[in-house]
Amino acid sequence: MGNKEYRVLLYYQYVTIDNPEEFANEHLAFCKELGLRGRILVANEGMNGTVSGTVEQTEEYMKTLREDERFADMEFKIDESDGHAFKKMHVRPRPELVTLRLEDDINPNELTGNYLEPKEFYERMQDENTIVIDARNDYEYDLGHFRGAIRPDIHTFRELPDWIRENKEKLEGKRILTYCTGGIRCEKFSGWLVKEGFEDVNQLHGGIVSYGKDPEVKGQLWDGQCYVFDERISVPINQEEHVVVGKEYFTGEPCERYVNCANPDCNKQILCSEENEHFFMRGCTHECRTAERNLYIQEHDLSEEEVQERLDKIEEYYNETVK
Ligand SMILES: [Zn+2]
Repeated sequence: MGNKEYRVLLYYQYVTIDNPEEFANEHLAFCKELGLRGRILVANEGMNGTVSGTVEQTEEYMKTLREDERFADMEFKIDESDGHAFKKMHVRPRPELVTLRLEDDINPNELTGNYLEPKEFYERMQDENTIVIDARNDYEYDLGHFRGAIRPDIHTFRELPDWIRENKEKLEGKRILTYCTGGIRCEKFSGWLVKEGFEDVNQLHGGIVSYGKDPEVKGQLWDGQCYVFDERISVPINQEEHVVVGKEYFTGEPCERYVNCANPDCNKQILCSEENEHFFMRGCTHECRTAERNLYIQEHDLSEEEVQERLDKIEEYYNETVK
């Protein structure tokens, strides 16, 4: 590893945790004592976390967790960082680690797709009879994805099973490859695909994040950036080339900068240039720009007149661009 002082750890383990609430409380105290920050989910079916801390803190954390036999083979993906990637430390008990809400839940320790290492995934992804399915949310796909991967037309992960059933004929007889950020969603999703009767189901072991670190494939055939659920928002994957696939929300120009809509009731994530953030007052629609609690207007202390001036310019802009 390099010389940065901080690290971000991404990890999960499907393993039975008998009392998730109690475990969460104790684990939170332990993380705070170490000085870590991050977000950890604990469920009956296991644990899933992202934490940041100094090299010493994260080393101590991994060592202690591995002493617990439930987490003895936990795989940690380690990113170097210039500082913390979170503001606070949360450990939350949840009914599920990933929200699929299946009628019959899948235990990935009993049923899951074949694991492909990055090299195998890279090779098989280029076979003709292969179909690659992105198992993430739409806004994650839009910032970056494997070249040629299918973007299921869904907004959140839990809609994925229905989408598959509706599009079954596209997938039948094909070798299916699935991938997600760190691998946790595919453990369940690929298991579900097997249960649905698909025969050749494979998942990227360790997810996109591990793929980007593989010394041989170096993230090849990944386009754009990988969305992550911490303050970094995105991380690079492809070490060989950088193809921008993100499109600016307002203009459609290449863009990899995510912001949240300034209307807290909307909070939609949009790819937006700095210039357009100011021009559109970070509002995704006219309603959001004029929303009473628009945070952009508060942050920039705009007067009513100033807001009206901007709104007039925006109207002018739309009148000119609409043919
Ligand atoms: Zn909005």
